[in-house]
Amino acid sequence: MQFKDIVGQRDVINRLTEIIDSGRVSHAQLLLGATDDGSLQVALAYLQYLCCEHRVHPEEGDLRADSCGECPSCKKIAALMHPDLHLYFPTATTTRVTSAPKSDDFVAEFREFIAAHHALGTLDEWYAHLGIDNKQGMVREADAAAIVQALGMKAYEGGWKMVVVWMPEKMNAAAANELLKTLEEPSEGSVILLVGESDERLLPTIKSRVQTVRLKAGNSRRAAEAALAEQYAPLLVEWLRMLFKLKMKELSAQVDKMAALGREQQKQFLGYTQEVMRSCFLHSTAGLPVELGSGDQKFDAMFPQMVTVNNIEMINNALDDALFAIERNAYGKIALMELSFRLSKALKKR
Ligand SMILES: [Zn+2]
Repeated sequence: MQFKDIVGQRDVINRLTEIIDSGRVSHAQLLLGATDDGSLQVALAYLQYLCCEHRVHPEEGDLRADSCGECPSCKKIAALMHPDLHLYFPTATTTRVTSAPKSDDFVAEFREFIAAHHALGTLDEWYAHLGIDNKQGMVREADAAAIVQALGMKAYEGGWKMVVVWMPEKMNAAAANELLKTLEEPSEGSVILLVGESDERLLPTIKSRVQTVRLKAGNSRRAAEAALAEQYAPLLVEWLRMLFKLKMKELSAQVDKMAALGREQQKQFLGYTQEVMRSCFLHSTAGLPVELGSGDQKFDAMFPQMVTVNNIEMINNALDDALFAIERNAYGKIALMELSFRLSKALKKR
């Protein structure tokens, strides 16, 4: 994650990069703010900047500095695969991990969750992703012990040893006490970021040992969603119209346009399409408002009625399969063409 991928929070971000540039990196910080306001995004982009081999200082725009996004270190941190980056978060028992759950058991799931929500996913969404239903997740003593161990070792890559604790307010007392020892005697070259939404449940002794950085409340997530809609709504609406007409030549040209987006943007576009289909379904079944933004009132009123209990599953499966294929490097045009046929068929089944 680069800072430029984050909506808003410019003051905080510029202050953080200034501190890093001046070499006064503090060993332990508490980033306070809602996850969907970008607190975890800021934390991940901060670490990427800290380790970047070619930091950039753009002459234009509202960011004073950013990571390059391309050096090996940036790529490893962006994929959450850096060997010196250790992640901790609330967990609970699941069907797979039936006892003594800890963060290390769920790192793969956490990476998926971060990627799927662009690091803006909420705690409830994380629990849903884990499938732990009504159980309360917790950051446990085993997690704090793993932190102590991770920071006690030499850095694999010779640089910073980094620890992120997402939702430190979910630490139980044993974990908090264990962590406290680490905060009292920070090991050389280590950075601990506590990324939480509230400091009310944190021990005062912990609070007093971390530097607190408060993010602005502003709902980056809603802003990011609005930006996506602006970018993709025209393309989606054109495509939807063609799924009804199903004229091969036009459809093929449309699919070419979508395939030209490139893999990451294709995935974004399909994710956006999924969101729109979900809203249409909620509109046709529960009457919730939906706006397609086609500029054609008749189409905006008609289309949401086409997504119903009879076809929502077919639509979702078709989109999931296409996303999966594109992720696995399938040829974009073929995946999108097949998706078009499946959606067209599903929409007729309403
Ligand atoms: Zn870099």
